[in-house]
Amino acid sequence: MSGGGFAGLTAATALAQRGWSVRLHERSPELRTEGAGIVLWNNSLQVIDAIKAGPDLMSRSMTPPAYETRMNNVIQSQETLDGIRWRTLTRPHLFQTLLVAAREAGVEVVAGSEVVGASPDGTIRFANGDSAEADLIIGADGVGSAVRDSLDIPLKRERSRDGITRFLVPRRKAELQALEPDTEWDNVIDFWNLDPRVLRVLYTPANDEELYIALMSPAADADGSRVPIDLDLWTSVFPQLAPVLEDAAKTPGRYYGYQTTRLDHWTEGKVALIGDAAHAMCPALAQGAGCAMQNAWTLAVAATEADDIPAALIDWERLERPYTDIAQDRSQWYADTREMAKGNQFQGDSVVTATYNPTDPHRHEVHA
Ligand SMILES: Cc1cc2nc3c(=O)[nH]c(=O)nc-3n(C[C@H](O)[C@H](O)[C@H](O)COP(=O)(O)OP(=O)(O)OC[C@H]3O[C@@H](n4cnc5c(N)ncnc54)[C@H](O)[C@@H]3O)c2cc1C
Repeated sequence: MSGGGFAGLTAATALAQRGWSVRLHERSPELRTEGAGIVLWNNSLQVIDAIKAGPDLMSRSMTPPAYETRMNNVIQSQETLDGIRWRTLTRPHLFQTLLVAAREAGVEVVAGSEVVGASPDGTIRFANGDSAEADLIIGADGVGSAVRDSLDIPLKRERSRDGITRFLVPRRKAELQALEPDTEWDNVIDFWNLDPRVLRVLYTPANDEELYIALMSPAADADGSRVPIDLDLWTSVFPQLAPVLEDAAKTPGRYYGYQTTRLDHWTEGKVALIGDAAHAMCPALAQGAGCAMQNAWTLAVAATEADDIPAALIDWERLERPYTDIAQDRSQWYADTREMAKGNQFQGDSVVTATYNPTDPHRHEVHA
């Protein structure tokens, strides 16, 4: 296994729990995650339950009362998402939850070990010149995947014109309430401004103490994308968020662009790609990690049941990829059009992947 992010940790745990001997190679000297907060939906929450990490995850996460969308501070929609399972949490909490599950399952984690490539016959190669043989190699090494690139799989890359700077800050609920008493500050609130300037704050409570805020602006807007953030600019557009923007301004932060990568195929012989290595996507639907975890789980199940690993991997991609393709396409469309600003987004194609249950063994049965 190459890569100890959400995809790699989930696949490693699911395989080890099924009796595989799993070694996970992580390039960084220590295992950790970048970013601030995250939203998970039914597809990944089912996987968390299946790897028995549900109680840990639930202990420090929440389901906000509604997903609210505002344009120029006018409420467009307040979607209660009835019937859709979702949780908000911090990335460090998700990461720790998965790392504990991996260690409990017996995964051998090798930090400071860089993978440089893999071959379809099951050989994995390392930066220190070593190589090893395996029955299954998983490239979960992120958007710049060395495993993927070593296989020369044709890919199309579409970069977004917008980017995001993310922060974890204290909730400061009482101060926010004092500024805007009628607002439900436990909601996720997607504050959009498109005219005269494209600036957006995605406000996501992650638990009782921590708030995840993501500040979006076009890459072409030098002031909007500057880090540390331009506090005067952001508070002039979002005065009701001043207390939490002040905290964000004290943090260096990093402005991230995002992209969609579409691969011709995800598997080659005994090698499979999952997560951003296979299907990086724009964050509009908050499904990059969700798809990574769902594909990690289904891959582990398919490989365990297989007599012939290469054939099973091809079949796995055929059955599972459509759910990721839908999320990627829809996320790219939202990034291109900024239609999310109109609200009422949780319907049709936008919830197909969110409501998918990858752990249901009967999910691909066709009923007459
Ligand atoms: C702004 C933003 C907001 C997002 N919000 C959400 C959200 O709310 N919900 C959601 O589901 N998704 C969200 N995503 C997407 C999500 O963060 C990613 O899809 C997910 O983290 C990908 O996980 P991964 O394990 O595939 O890759 P990564 O997290 O990139 O992990 C890859 C790992 O591999 C390691 N590695 C890299 N190269 C090598 C190598 N050569 N050898 C060994 N190890 C290597 C890296 O160090 C890293 O640890 C968001 C993304 C962005 C940019």
